[in-house]
Amino acid sequence: MKGKFGPFEGILEETTCPVCRETNEVSKVPEAKLIFRSHGGIGYYRCSQCNLMYASPRFTEESMLKIYEREEFADLSEFNNWSYEKWKESRNRSYNVQKLKIMLVERYLSQGDRILDVGCGTGLFILEANKKGFLCEGVEPSLMLSNICKNVLKVPVNHTLLENFVPPYKFNGIIIWDVLEHVYNPVRIIKKSFELSEWGGFLFLQVPNYRGISNQYKNLLCRLGIRDNEYRHFGFPWHVYSFDKRSLSFLLGKTGFKVILFESWSHWLKDGWRNPLLKKLSIYLRKWCLSDYIVCVAKKV
Ligand SMILES: [Zn+2]
Repeated sequence: MKGKFGPFEGILEETTCPVCRETNEVSKVPEAKLIFRSHGGIGYYRCSQCNLMYASPRFTEESMLKIYEREEFADLSEFNNWSYEKWKESRNRSYNVQKLKIMLVERYLSQGDRILDVGCGTGLFILEANKKGFLCEGVEPSLMLSNICKNVLKVPVNHTLLENFVPPYKFNGIIIWDVLEHVYNPVRIIKKSFELSEWGGFLFLQVPNYRGISNQYKNLLCRLGIRDNEYRHFGFPWHVYSFDKRSLSFLLGKTGFKVILFESWSHWLKDGWRNPLLKKLSIYLRKWCLSDYIVCVAKKV
C-alpha cells in the first residue's frame, strides 16, 4: 500500500509494538489501544505492555530512509555560508541546545572520553563536544546530512547505519538525541549501543514525550476531532513513536541499560529566556518531565 504525506511518498506497512515484538520471550503480541486515527488513515496506538505510542501503518524501512535524503526534510540553507563564530553569537535554540547537551554530558564524562553521536545530523554536537576536549564522532545514515558534517563543519562522521558501524574501540558515552522516534527498529539501535559501550558507559537520549502538557492537550484535541489530526502534530511520517518514562525504562531495561536520570527541557530553557517566572516554571517542567521531550541518561551496568 502506497502513502503520500506532503512531499514524502513511500510504501506503508502495518505494525505491532516494535519494542515488545523484539524483546518478548513469549510469542503473544500485547494488546494496543487506539488513541486516535488521522484523516490519512494512520492509527496511533499505545502498547498495553510497554506503554510505547506507535504509528501503524508506517513506512517500510527503505521508504523511511528516503525521507532523510529529501531537501524538504530540513532547511539547511543556514549551512550555505555557515561560520562557528556567527552561530555562537546568534545564541539561538540550536546553539543553546548543544550547550545544554554538553552540560549534561559533563556531569557524567570527562575530557578525553570517547563519545559516539548516533544520527548526528549536521554535526553541531560533535563540533562543540570536541572543542570541550571529548573525542566525539558521529554516525549518520543520511548522505545529505553527513555531507554537511564533512564539508561544512568538518567533524568526524561515519556515513552508515549504526547497525553496520564497526569501530576498533568502545565508547564511554553514546548520544541518541531526537533519533529513536525516527528509526525503523529502536531495539536494534539500543542493542547495538550496548555492544559499542564500555562497561560503566553512559547513554544520553532525548525522545518525544506524550505525557508532556502540550502533547497531552494536542492529543486530546485530536481525539475529540477539534484539531486537524493529520500527520503534522505527531510528526508522521518521520516520527513513528512517542514515549513516556515507563516505555523508555522498558526499552532500556530489556537491552541491559539502567536508567539513572529523567528530566525534560522546556522551549523557554532551550531559547535561553531569562524571564524569572518562566525560569521558575522551567525548573518544575524539567523535574517533573512535563515538556514535549524526555531527556534520559542510562548506564551500562
Ligand atoms: Zn510494547
